[in-house]
Amino acid sequence: MANLVLENVNKSFGTLQVIPDINLDIKDGEFVVFVGPSGCGKSTLLRMIAGLEEATGGDIRINGESVIDTPAADRGVAMVFQSYALYPHMTVRQNLSFGLENIRMPKDEIDRRVEAAGKLLQIDTLLDRRPRQLSGGQRQRVAIGRAITRDPKIFLFDEPLSNLDAELRVLMRVEITKLHERLGNTMIYVTHDQIEAMTMADKIVVLRKGVIEQVGAPLDLYNRPHNTFVAGFIGSPR
Ligand code: ADP
Ligand code: MG
Repeated sequence: MANLVLENVNKSFGTLQVIPDINLDIKDGEFVVFVGPSGCGKSTLLRMIAGLEEATGGDIRINGESVIDTPAADRGVAMVFQSYALYPHMTVRQNLSFGLENIRMPKDEIDRRVEAAGKLLQIDTLLDRRPRQLSGGQRQRVAIGRAITRDPKIFLFDEPLSNLDAELRVLMRVEITKLHERLGNTMIYVTHDQIEAMTMADKIVVLRKGVIEQVGAPLDLYNRPHNTFVAGFIGSPR
């Protein structure tokens, strides 16, 4: 259970200001989709929430507690990347359990979590394979499974389906929606795909140059875009 608050969060890389000042309130269990042009700061924002990138200023709170100084591993946030980020030399089982071994979780608990994630994502027959022996869709399932085994309060997805072909994207989109219904966690999902945004989101956040242009339910944005930028992003197929 987790609500997430971004308060005056900003980020610069040297003299390059990527995010001037973001304020956002995400409710417990919400499925929030971030959309916006390439380079507008979506990944940077997710990485700051995950603790993989330090904010230049502002506060990030999970369930009311500031996590700005909390290391990534202790935030209760798990991120799934477009590139899967699996270890090529490890089996699926090892990929799923590695992070848990690192925090010295008892082996029987690790096994229990790996089995459960395997079943949930239908990769339980693939546990002894290595990533190169898997299809793109199977790899992405493993990456999602790895996030699940960490039992995070919040899931972050950074364009997780962009490397998959169109048919598989539709299938995985439905799978992730089911996962959200089943787990009920707060999830933030970055995508370029308008249909993903429209069908998956409880709430869409439209970003431009690190600034939130509009936040709203999909139909709300579709029917009442505040400006032509939002209309261009949500209204018309791209
Ligand atoms: P998006 O995910 O929306 O495509 P990013 O968050 O990846 O955008 O990048 C936002 C901006 O920040 C881009 O201009 C990018 O070049 C810049 N940027 C991202 N990471 C770094 C970094 N580590 N060092 C310098 N600039 C970066
Ligand atoms: Mg990105």
